[in-house]
Amino acid sequence: MSPKKGRVFSGARPTGRQHLGNYLGAIKNYVALQDEYECVYCIVDLHALTTMETTEDLRANSYEMALDWLAAGIRPDESIMFIQSHVPQVTELHTILSMVTPLGKLTDLPTFKEKVRQQPHNVNYGLVGYPVLMTADIALYKADAVPVGVDQGPHLEFARETVRSFNFHFKTNALIEPQMKVTEVPKVIGLDGQNKMSKSLNNHIELAATPEETTKRVMTMVTDPQRMRRSDPGNPDVCNVFSMHKIFSSGEEVSMVNVECRRAGIGCVDCKKMLARNMNTYFDPFRTRREQLAQNPQAVWDVLHDGARRARAIAEKTMVEVRDAIGLP
Ligand code: SF4
Repeated sequence: MSPKKGRVFSGARPTGRQHLGNYLGAIKNYVALQDEYECVYCIVDLHALTTMETTEDLRANSYEMALDWLAAGIRPDESIMFIQSHVPQVTELHTILSMVTPLGKLTDLPTFKEKVRQQPHNVNYGLVGYPVLMTADIALYKADAVPVGVDQGPHLEFARETVRSFNFHFKTNALIEPQMKVTEVPKVIGLDGQNKMSKSLNNHIELAATPEETTKRVMTMVTDPQRMRRSDPGNPDVCNVFSMHKIFSSGEEVSMVNVECRRAGIGCVDCKKMLARNMNTYFDPFRTRREQLAQNPQAVWDVLHDGARRARAIAEKTMVEVRDAIGLP
């Protein structure tokens, strides 16, 4: 195995069964990064608490998400995969970093303002400190790099500034400024052909869906709105089905659809059937692996607990340096 380039950290909220948007936007990249980096992947349950109305599904959602990550190819013997709250050091570092973070900087963040707009009835303290907790997540594991989409750049910049501020304040190098590993994250449009794929809009396809369910969902996809009849020529450039073909179909099939759609040589029904078939072939190994893993839920929890144990070892080492730098008695 070639030596790794460094350590990457990434976290995601426990949203339960993952969908195509999660897969293409994050999980696929998580799997690929393992070849080059030591990877630390965290299910951020504490972050989820800032916007949650109920915690009823938190445990089940964490489990389902872990199951999908493993089935997709996260290798737990190489990568550290765990649940955020299983490493209590993160809350300690969060508290410490909050002392070097000006409140105004947090309340001025566009993401905070957006959350206030979305949940005016629940502007909790955790919501304000969210970016500080995120910084603690990254800094605790001394991540060299964090994979981010271009639009997430400002979040990481905040983390970098906070780390700089801590190191400057306490004249230390205990924390590492993480680098951005900008990744091209495709914006995956949902079945409605308009909005980003999301569970809340019910415009998604779950990775764990059966082939039949997947086909049924694909058949509901909105296509080129100008193509009303089978005999009308279509425009694949504005059709989400075509965007998906580019991901799941062969080069020849993509070229064929590109040509035939424009001259009404192929109908949308056949075009979608082809896409569903290719998607099902693509996710066949994933589904087999998921079914196997699901037969032994305890083994999935064991992976998460083992990951937490390894994460705590790194975290405690960092915290020893942090406490020492501050001069905590
Ligand atoms: S034929 Fe395919 S690419 Fe063309 S509009 Fe229909 S679904 Fe979209």
